[in-house]
Amino acid sequence: MSEVRVRFAPSPTGQIHIGNIRTALFNYLFAKKMDGTFILRIEDTDRERSANEFEDVIHQEMNWLGLDWDEGVKVGGDFGPYRQMERLDLYKEYIDKLLEEERAYRCYCTPEELDQMRASQKKAGEAPRYTGKCRNLTDKERIDLEKEGRESVIRFKSPQEEREIVVDDLIRGQVAFSSDVIDDFVIVKSDGIPTYNFAVVIDDHLMEISHVIRGEDHLSNTPKQILVYQGLGWDTPRFAHLSMILGSDKSKLSKRSGEAYVFVSEYRKKGYLPQALLNFLSLLGWSPEGDEEVFSKEEIIEQFSIERVNKSSAVFDVEKLNWMNGLYIRDAQIDTIVQLALPYLKEAGYDLEDEDPKWVELLVDTVRGSLDYIAQIADEVDIFFGEVEYDNKEKVVETFKQKDVDLVLETLKERIEALETLDPAEIKSMLKKTMKDLPVGGRKFYHPTRFALTGKGSGPELYNVIAILGKEESIKRLDKALSLI
Ligand code: GLU
Repeated sequence: MSEVRVRFAPSPTGQIHIGNIRTALFNYLFAKKMDGTFILRIEDTDRERSANEFEDVIHQEMNWLGLDWDEGVKVGGDFGPYRQMERLDLYKEYIDKLLEEERAYRCYCTPEELDQMRASQKKAGEAPRYTGKCRNLTDKERIDLEKEGRESVIRFKSPQEEREIVVDDLIRGQVAFSSDVIDDFVIVKSDGIPTYNFAVVIDDHLMEISHVIRGEDHLSNTPKQILVYQGLGWDTPRFAHLSMILGSDKSKLSKRSGEAYVFVSEYRKKGYLPQALLNFLSLLGWSPEGDEEVFSKEEIIEQFSIERVNKSSAVFDVEKLNWMNGLYIRDAQIDTIVQLALPYLKEAGYDLEDEDPKWVELLVDTVRGSLDYIAQIADEVDIFFGEVEYDNKEKVVETFKQKDVDLVLETLKERIEALETLDPAEIKSMLKKTMKDLPVGGRKFYHPTRFALTGKGSGPELYNVIAILGKEESIKRLDKALSLI
């Protein structure tokens, strides 16, 4: 089999949509699996909407997810340049060829004329299409139109007789389009810049792309591109169109569908782990053979195949992502999580950079079990800072006033004071022993103690809570509870 060369070809017109990064990921996985080459090409021919800063966004998000490209912008390669606006000379050669061979022609119709054309087609109940008005202009007519100062575009001559154009799609099978639905489409705009449907063909051909893997939203463009390949006498690459990603309400994932964010940056900013998002995205449309769903990148590459990419739409289930991300947060090295957490904590007013690293580690480790994403950490550590706040004061005080609770809290004060270290293991056995020594059961022991120390009815293990609060603060909180009895 010849070498696999695939590309991700985003337009730098904004933030990267989650659907786009999934396209990048599937290209990447396929390239890695097949020992092929993964190329990043920037499709910046839409001058109004493209901006350099958006190309930076593309690099940033791809780097964050670890989708390193082998060839393309920044890294270079033998098939460059890799930005379409730097390839205009290359396109010109093929535009001239098509014009010369009369497979394309200049069209001088004004926007107003085109509007009129469409309006009368609509009136007649016909589908809007370019009528071919400028298809057979004589040289004289052309010169006259130019003299009028008219601008021109270049249109591709689509077949006039009806025939089928079949997209042989690796995911969808054979998808047939009638050439009837394709008019003489524009391949070069009046400013001389080629359109997407033209430039993409030239690039994919010259860059020797073997497989075009992209979103289903481009499926209807593919027959046009096939016509251009044929017009230039070139073979087409293989095509694979990935199904759309839907929100949990089953509508197309756009702006905000339910809880899901649409842009990769939003997940990065919330503190999702790139490995978790990558794992989750890989399952949007692809399914591995077994039931297992948690995989490292290497394992996904090992198992990946286009044959197992599904043609029905994938649903973006945020709860599943949160579950998976939580799993990755719990499994990660603690210092990775600490490093990720520090900026969020700082933003929330907890500047812990100069605190004892062991203490910070314990703090983060104690709460990471309840996180879906790192940005939530500020809410979780709140119980350790400032005055203790009771969730429901009346109920809490009632708990404190139960028989023997004063004895529990007093005894704990003494035992905490007497602790030799703040090692959670030592505190754990102290708590166990204290409870045994007192005439109370577990509920009466732990429940009021938890309320006294955290203000809440549930939360992290108490031995960790005491270790984090330290002796002084723990005793202060127990005193506060005792004062309410
Ligand atoms: N620039 C196009 C996009 O961002 C690329 C489509 C393709 O992969 O052919 O949608």
